Amino acid sequence: MGKSTGFLEYTREVPKDREPLERIKDWKEFHLELPEEVQQIQGARCMDCGVPYCHSGMMIAGGASGCPIHNLIPEWNDMIYKGLWKEALVRLLKTNNFPEFTGRVCPAPCEGACTVGLNEPQVTIKTNECAIIDRAFKEGWITPNPPKNRTDKKIAVVGSGPAGLACAAELNKAGHHVTVYERADRIGGLLMYGIPNMKLDKIDVVQRRVDLMSAEGINFVTSTEVGKDYAVADLKADYDAVVLCCGATKPRDLPVEGRALKGVDFAIDFLSANTKSLLDSNLADGNYTSAKDKHVVIIGGGDTGTDCVATSIRHGCKSVLQLEIMPKPPATRAEGNPWPEWPKTYKLDYGQEEAVAIYGNDPRQYCTTTKKIVGDADGNVTEVHTVEIEWIADETGRMTMTEIAGTEKILPADIVLLAMGFLGPDDLLVDQLGLDRDPRSNVQADYGVYQTSADSIFAAGDVRRGQSLVVWAINEGREAARACHAYLEKNNV
Ligand SMILES: Cc1cc2nc3c(=O)[nH]c(=O)nc-3n(C[C@H](O)[C@H](O)[C@H](O)COP(=O)(O)OP(=O)(O)OC[C@H]3O[C@@H](n4cnc5c(N)ncnc54)[C@H](O)[C@@H]3O)c2cc1C
Ligand code: SF4
Repeated sequence: MGKSTGFLEYTREVPKDREPLERIKDWKEFHLELPEEVQQIQGARCMDCGVPYCHSGMMIAGGASGCPIHNLIPEWNDMIYKGLWKEALVRLLKTNNFPEFTGRVCPAPCEGACTVGLNEPQVTIKTNECAIIDRAFKEGWITPNPPKNRTDKKIAVVGSGPAGLACAAELNKAGHHVTVYERADRIGGLLMYGIPNMKLDKIDVVQRRVDLMSAEGINFVTSTEVGKDYAVADLKADYDAVVLCCGATKPRDLPVEGRALKGVDFAIDFLSANTKSLLDSNLADGNYTSAKDKHVVIIGGGDTGTDCVATSIRHGCKSVLQLEIMPKPPATRAEGNPWPEWPKTYKLDYGQEEAVAIYGNDPRQYCTTTKKIVGDADGNVTEVHTVEIEWIADETGRMTMTEIAGTEKILPADIVLLAMGFLGPDDLLVDQLGLDRDPRSNVQADYGVYQTSADSIFAAGDVRRGQSLVVWAINEGREAARACHAYLEKNNV
C-alpha cells in the first residue's frame, strides 16, 4: 500500500483536458498529463483495501464492475506512489497488452468499483494507467520483444480490432506464426476507424503499437476481406487454426419514413470516412461528409453519438442535437444502482462539453423519439420530426414508452446520423464458415471457451459478445489465444 493515510490526505486530481474552444480547432488528442509528482500522489490515494473490487471484472446487473482484464491496480498504484515506474509497467503489462488504448478510451469500470469511491471521489485508476504506459514509451522502455523460439503452427486472426490485436500478440508470444487479416486499408478495427483521432491518436498511438507488433514478427495483411478477397477454403487449408475477431459491424437501422433521404447516414460511416480522409490527406481529398454550416441531428445518445457531435463541431456545423430515447440519468447513483455496480449517472462527455462551450447547452434531448424524417423535392433531408415520451411501468414492472401529446417538434436537419448501436457481425464470412449463432446473431462460442461450432475456429470480441468495449475485446482476445494455443497443443495439429 502506498501511504496508509493517502486517501485521507489527498483529493482526486485528473489532468485537465485541453480547453474545448481551443481543441475544436484541430483533431489532436484532447488529453493532457499531470506532472509526475502529482500523478505519484494520486497513486497514494489507493487504500489497498482488503477486497479490492477494482480489479474484479464481474458482471453485476448486466454491467461490468471492476476491470475486465483484472489489471493489478492496487499493486501499480503503490509502485507509482513510490516512484517505481518501471516496476509498475511490468505489473501492468502482465494483464494488459495495450494500456495506451485503455488508458485513453476505457470508461473505467474499475473506478466505479473503487472502495475509496464509497465516500470520497475514487482513485484516478485510468489516468494512473495511462501515465505508466505513456512514460514507458517516452523513456524508451517499450521495444519489440519477439519470441525466442518459433513453433511450426500457423494461425490466422481475422479482424484487427483490439480483440484481434490482443489475440495476435499473445499467440505470437507463444511462438506461433500469426497472420492478421483486415478488410480495411489500415490496421486497428474501431481503434482506427471508429473512435475519432482526438480521443485516440491514430499515428502516434495506434500505428505505433501496430509497428511494434510487426517488428515482433506478426504478419499484417490489409485490404483483404476473408470470404471475399481470400477464399474460406484457402484459409482452412493454409492455417492450423483460425480466430475470428471481426467485430459486430452491422449498424442498427431506423425504419421510419424518410430513412432513404440523402443526408441520412450511419454514424459509423460518417466517422470512419472522416478519419480515413484525415489520415490520407488532412481532409483535403473531400472523401467524407462535411457538416460545415449544416444542422446536424444525431439519433442516439451514446458514445458513438458523442463522437459524431465532436466531429461535426470540428467541421464547423451550424447546430448539433443528439436525440436520446432514455431519460436523463441522475446526478448521483440511484437507489437501485449501488456501489460497486457501474454508476449510471449523468456525465458531460468531451463532445457535449464542446457543444456547451459553443452553443451554451448540452446537445442531448432525452426521452425523445423520431416520428419521421422529411426532405425537399430533390430528396435531400431537411427536417426531423420528434415527440417526447415518458416511460411507465406496466403491471409486470416492465417499462413501456408512451408519447406525450403536444410535445411534437420539427428540427431543422441537413445531416442525420444514426448512432443506435450494432446488431452483430456481417453475414458473409460467418455463413461461409457455417457457424452457429446465438439468439442475438453473434457467433456462438461460450465465454471463457471461445470454440465455435467448427473445429479449429475460435471467436472473440464483439463478433462473439456483441457490441461492447475495448477492454472486453482485449480480455477476450487474450483468452481466445490461450484457448487456441491449448487446442493446438492438445490435438498436435
Ligand atoms: C464510434 C465508436 C466509438 C467507440 N468508442 C469506444 C470507447 O471510447 N471506449 C471503448 O471501450 N469502446 C468504444 N467503442 C467500442 C469498441 O470500439 C469495440 O467494442 C471494440 O473495438 C471491439 O473490438 P473487436 O476487436 O471485437 O472488433 P472491431 O474493433 O470492430 O474490429 C473488427 C475488425 O474486423 C474487420 N473485419 C470484419 N470482417 C472481416 C473479414 N471478413 N475479413 C477481414 N477483416 C474483417 C473489420 O473491418 C474490423 O476492422 C466504440 C465503438 C464505436 C463504433
Ligand atoms: S483497462 Fe479500463 S477497467 Fe481496467 S484498469 Fe484500465 S481503465 Fe480501469
